[in-house]
Amino acid sequence: MTNQDCIFCKIISGEIPAKLIAESEHAIAFNDIDPKQAIHVLVVPREHHGNIAELAFANPPALVDLIQLGSKVASDVSTGSFRFTFNTGSEAGQTVFHAHGHILSKTPKA
Ligand code: AMP
Ligand code: ZN
Repeated sequence: MTNQDCIFCKIISGEIPAKLIAESEHAIAFNDIDPKQAIHVLVVPREHHGNIAELAFANPPALVDLIQLGSKVASDVSTGSFRFTFNTGSEAGQTVFHAHGHILSKTPKA
């Protein structure tokens, strides 16, 4: 499942470059191009779904895999104190309509 007009599908296919941090069966993690905190990583399912709620119903194992990948990345790169957020819908600030989680942390691991 891909969408040819979707920027995250293009990152997943390699058409657009990104700073890959980690990957798993169902998801990839890469640095946000416009970081809002010292650590700002996006965790993105390989399949195209419009938001995290749609992913949850369409492919629950992929959602669990995404949460696990994000949690691993967060504990690898931060002190373990982080936010894991999912903007869902434009009023909530969603700008890319391919499901994704933001890992945000103030404190990189020493
Ligand atoms: P949201 O506003 O929750 O939809 O988050 C979308 C995020 O994607 C924003 O934080 C953007 O900075 C980020 N973003 C957009 N284009 C790229 C890109 N090409 N590479 C990495 N991050 C991106
Ligand atoms: Zn997509």
